Amino acid sequence: MAKSSKTIQIAAVAIIAVVAIAAIGIVLMGGLGADDRSALEKIKDRGKLIVGTSAGFPPFEMLNTSAAGGVEGIDMDVAKAIADSLGVELEIKNYDDFSVLITALQNGKIDMVIAGMTITDDRNESAAFSMPYYKADQALVVLKSNSEITNTTGLVGKTVAVNTGTTGQYYIEDNLPNIKEMKPFGTASDTFQALGGNKVDAIIIDSPVAANYISDSNPYKIVETIETNEFYGIAMSKNNAEDLVAEVNKIVGDMIESGEMDDIISKWSRA
Ligand code: GLN
Repeated sequence: MAKSSKTIQIAAVAIIAVVAIAAIGIVLMGGLGADDRSALEKIKDRGKLIVGTSAGFPPFEMLNTSAAGGVEGIDMDVAKAIADSLGVELEIKNYDDFSVLITALQNGKIDMVIAGMTITDDRNESAAFSMPYYKADQALVVLKSNSEITNTTGLVGKTVAVNTGTTGQYYIEDNLPNIKEMKPFGTASDTFQALGGNKVDAIIIDSPVAANYISDSNPYKIVETIETNEFYGIAMSKNNAEDLVAEVNKIVGDMIESGEMDDIISKWSRA
């Protein structure tokens, strides 16, 4: 065999080897789940936005079997508007416990949390928040028949219900060391059931949710509004989601500017 044809053979084998190694590399990377698509790309490729919430927090999210996704309210209208703007379907994942939502987000089970979630320094460590879309405070709620507790000072030695892992719980931990006991519940509606059933003396909960439960036929009253100055935001992943956060901010900003956000809020809020 001539020398030149041997060189060609060696070169051919070398090229085949390089291509084979590259191919194996690509297969391995795919097999290991390397996925460098951004959060927004994943949603668009999937054709579906997956939103996590925790119903039982009226007027933001309430269970209703006849509603699309089984949940309705202010946050669900916001979720639908975001899905529509992105041109994808909406899937709602409802969790019975508000406190698991950030973990579900971190584990990639949901694309975002829309759940009346207050933007806090702690949560900013584990999630990326949109611009605020609602302002709230905390409220102290007791039974109408209770004339003893008129403000938070009257809670010394009392049992107070909160929604687990919420700013109501953090307010008590930081400011009311002298209560007898704090009882955490999975949802806001559970706290009102406990108060109605005389299992607790009071509730500390977000002011718009407390206001929603006040009516002539309900046994509850608000005795104090605690000005915590909280802002609700939409929580997204901190991992490769800059494009999603920017897009959501654009959509929410447009909704606020156009008055659509106000319309949604008044549609669901009791006057
Ligand atoms: N805004 C409160 C918080 O973020 C309560 C939210 C809720 O119970 N859904 O902690």
